[in-house]
Amino acid sequence: PLSLLKDPSLLKTDALINGEWVKGGARFEVHDPSNGNKLADVANLGPKEAEAAIAAANAAWPAWRSKTAKERSITLRKWYDLLMANQEDLGRIMTAEQGKPFPEAKGEVAYGASFVEWYAEEAKRVNGETLPQFDNNRRLLVLRQPIGVCAAITPWNFPLAMITRKVAPALAAGCPVIIKPAELTPLTALATAELAIRAGIPAGVLNMITADGPNSIAVGKVFCASDVVRHISFTGSTEVGRILMAQSAPTVKKLSLELGGNAPFIVFDDADIDSAVEGAMASKYRNAGQTCVCANRIYVQEGVYDQFVQKFSAKVSALKVGNGFEDGVVQGPLIEDAAVEKVERHVADAVAKGGKVVVGGTKLQGQFFQPTVIADATGNMLCAKEETFGPLAPVFKFKTEQEAIQAANNTEFGLASYFYSRDVGRIFRVSEALEYGMVGINVGIIATEHVPFGGVKQSGLGREGSSHGMEEYVEMKYLCVGDI
Ligand code: ADP
Repeated sequence: PLSLLKDPSLLKTDALINGEWVKGGARFEVHDPSNGNKLADVANLGPKEAEAAIAAANAAWPAWRSKTAKERSITLRKWYDLLMANQEDLGRIMTAEQGKPFPEAKGEVAYGASFVEWYAEEAKRVNGETLPQFDNNRRLLVLRQPIGVCAAITPWNFPLAMITRKVAPALAAGCPVIIKPAELTPLTALATAELAIRAGIPAGVLNMITADGPNSIAVGKVFCASDVVRHISFTGSTEVGRILMAQSAPTVKKLSLELGGNAPFIVFDDADIDSAVEGAMASKYRNAGQTCVCANRIYVQEGVYDQFVQKFSAKVSALKVGNGFEDGVVQGPLIEDAAVEKVERHVADAVAKGGKVVVGGTKLQGQFFQPTVIADATGNMLCAKEETFGPLAPVFKFKTEQEAIQAANNTEFGLASYFYSRDVGRIFRVSEALEYGMVGINVGIIATEHVPFGGVKQSGLGREGSSHGMEEYVEMKYLCVGDI
């Protein structure tokens, strides 16, 4: 698939430090999850190169922060234009290494690029404040300044968008960054970095350290221990988020964490059932169920339960599974064998505890898994407690609104939630009662660049996207001017 790139020079396999492509001593392999074929050998860097990248970012910081907001904005806008001009190639690289269907991959490129566009605009609006004085002899002001060198550690499920969502506001605010992309999807990340260089982002302002699993852990330790790195933004598992938080305690670093979810998707008796089915399809099976906002638990009120299960299952059994480059495929492979095993474990556990497989339920060849629906799900099943991160939809039956809210909130996670109802009173009651950072009401897809995306409880800290996303990368400074 990569031989079809319109611009083969986008295929980078070395890391980027201080504007130079760095080979490093060792390499690690990147594979196509749809067939296991090797796609590339990528630079496997470690702590020494991470230190070099931190030093380069720190050295590049004064000039970058001294540029006018408008100058930074123009450069970011060029990066956005290049990302969109290369949407097809970036999508192709993404499908090859990540597996999501090609149209979905191109959609992610547009989504990822939209953060660069948005923060190119927001760069010009990092405003300060003047406050009323408490004494006529003084004047009180607030400056908002870039926090400093930032590190971003990103996951494989959105190989491009999780980078731009962090890097664009950092750069817009005037901060340099070091990115450690996921070891399973470094090629999309490196192509994104190459386009940043072409856009004119100066040497050292955007660095990318590629590393395999063990080296990623070592690089993470260097980021956390560094006095120079002032902020770490991470998207990934709650488990790794906790490690990064603990490792960052000695240097009291500011953290933005986008961690696991366990999204409830509630369908009330008064819902438009066809719309709820559509929403559940989009929310559950996008990226083969491998997003932190995918519906993980579907709760359906008893009056519409049978009707929902029947309509939903009919749609799910029609989903085409296959290589993401094939026409009409809407579900690609899972990212790795461990992901397939987790879905198998959740299905077996649900069946053992009384769940009824209505659609799918089995592994296909390689890393493919059938889109699956399990009815009669119960709260003691693994799929109710853990994020499956795969194409399994357990459907639970409930009687009352209160029962649904309690079940939905019965988790340590609090990222996305969804519910379907046409009752205006219920819409406000349930929205307010759900302990989640985001609520989709009569809709299954909620993310876009100008809204605050993020979770409560153990789903994370901070928000990404929107004007609030910029706050993560600026510090306030209070000025008290006397002797006026
Ligand atoms: P996922 O569930 O998406 O695989 P992970 O949390 O394992 O999530 O990985 C997300 C990112 O975090 C990847 O870039 C990975 O290399 C990195 N990572 C994993 N473990 C650590 C660690 N201990 N320290 C720093 N980065 C890590």
